[in-house]
Amino acid sequence: MAFDEELMKKLVSLCKRLGFVFQSGEIYGGLQSAWDYGPLGVELKKNIENSWWNFMVRTRSNVFGVDTAIITHPEVWRSSGHVENFHDPMVDCRSCKGRFRADQVEGRKCPECGGELTEPRDFSLMFKTFMGPVEEDAAVVYLRPETCQSIFTNFRNIANALRPELPFGIAQIGKAFRNEITARNFIFRSREFEQMEMEFFCRPEEAGRWMEYWTAERLAWYSSLGIRKESLRLRPHSREELAHYAAACVDIEYAFPFCAGGFGELEGIADRTDYDLGAHMKGSGQDLAYVDQAANQKVIPYVVETSGGVGRTFLAVLLDSYYEDVIEDRERVVLRLSPELAPVKVAVLPLSRKLEGDALGVADILRPHWPVSFDVTGSIGKRYRRMDEIGTPYCVTFDFDSLNDKAVTIRERDSLGQIRVPVERLVDVMTGIFAKGWGNA
Ligand code: ATP
Repeated sequence: MAFDEELMKKLVSLCKRLGFVFQSGEIYGGLQSAWDYGPLGVELKKNIENSWWNFMVRTRSNVFGVDTAIITHPEVWRSSGHVENFHDPMVDCRSCKGRFRADQVEGRKCPECGGELTEPRDFSLMFKTFMGPVEEDAAVVYLRPETCQSIFTNFRNIANALRPELPFGIAQIGKAFRNEITARNFIFRSREFEQMEMEFFCRPEEAGRWMEYWTAERLAWYSSLGIRKESLRLRPHSREELAHYAAACVDIEYAFPFCAGGFGELEGIADRTDYDLGAHMKGSGQDLAYVDQAANQKVIPYVVETSGGVGRTFLAVLLDSYYEDVIEDRERVVLRLSPELAPVKVAVLPLSRKLEGDALGVADILRPHWPVSFDVTGSIGKRYRRMDEIGTPYCVTFDFDSLNDKAVTIRERDSLGQIRVPVERLVDVMTGIFAKGWGNA
């Protein structure tokens, strides 16, 4: 399907209608750029996060997980350079009062009304709050604008606790907050969002090699979610574009329909050198060097970072899996989500209300193994379509013959293929299908 604005509108509406994503505080007019995940959305989000965690942490012997505080010591952000540098240049329109990020506006005219723009001013992206009962400068703390800094501040704790050898990684998934000047495009740019970050500590001379390794790994992970190759691309940063702390950076981009140039950032992979550990050593006065016992040597490791967003991955997965096709002269919308990501894995559908009790027994057999939906309302065709629209890969139909032959029909979402299976073998057969795929089980 061509990437277009229309697709985005359809998807935002599908997300609300079916319970993936809602505008936060909608009954009060909505809090701009804050989003709530509904029953299907939270499942899809958790499936993405679990997939990342398995791929990055659980299946590797040298990457360790953490889960650190959101409210962070203010000195962390002073040392990291965020208090001084984490700004975006903001311009205002003198006519319509619109507000924009200067680097996202071409020329000196307002993109909405053509009016004159002010000179750019720096606007801090950090959310500030106060710790304790008194709102005074000494009580200022920040909501973290990225999850990685507390990985650096815990580097010594983890090195001491686990005694890992270089290279090793520390990973976390968690909330980050940025007071973006213009938050738009649904969950692509919000003010509260989730990051999936991994900092890989290595010997300085090996950073280039690990950049290549992690770039290939991360691209492979996006493909493993079912995102098509042609929807993804790598974009290395030019020298001028590099952040002050980075020696090299490459973005993994997705073909977001609303992005200028047709692609937008999903994830950044950066060689952050020893900048962060160095900055925290300076700021805290503590020694954060890694002690190489074998060589009897101290080294400040270089860091290769992989930093992606859960929301952007969620959106890319939905955009990439959205299809409209025609079956038996009727249009259907289908989310071709990979079975791993689908919020509902199996739907049990009795052909008639009269079969509800018996079919419920089949749902009970499946429920300990997979998230199951049970639906008796409307024609069977309508119910299949409802399941197609939320990406359910398999429907199990219980019909009148099922009462006698004790068998049910499994229908696959994309090929519409069907097989008849004895109820007593259903869990085994479904297990095989989930493990090997529909065609191979
Ligand atoms: P952009 O250039 O789009 O503002 P960035 O380069 O500032 O992004 P990073 O600081 O590299 O982003 O953050 C790493 C990842 O976190 C991004 O690739 C993206 O997936 C996610 N992310 C960053 N800002 C937001 C946001 N405001 N809303 C949702 N996700 C975000």
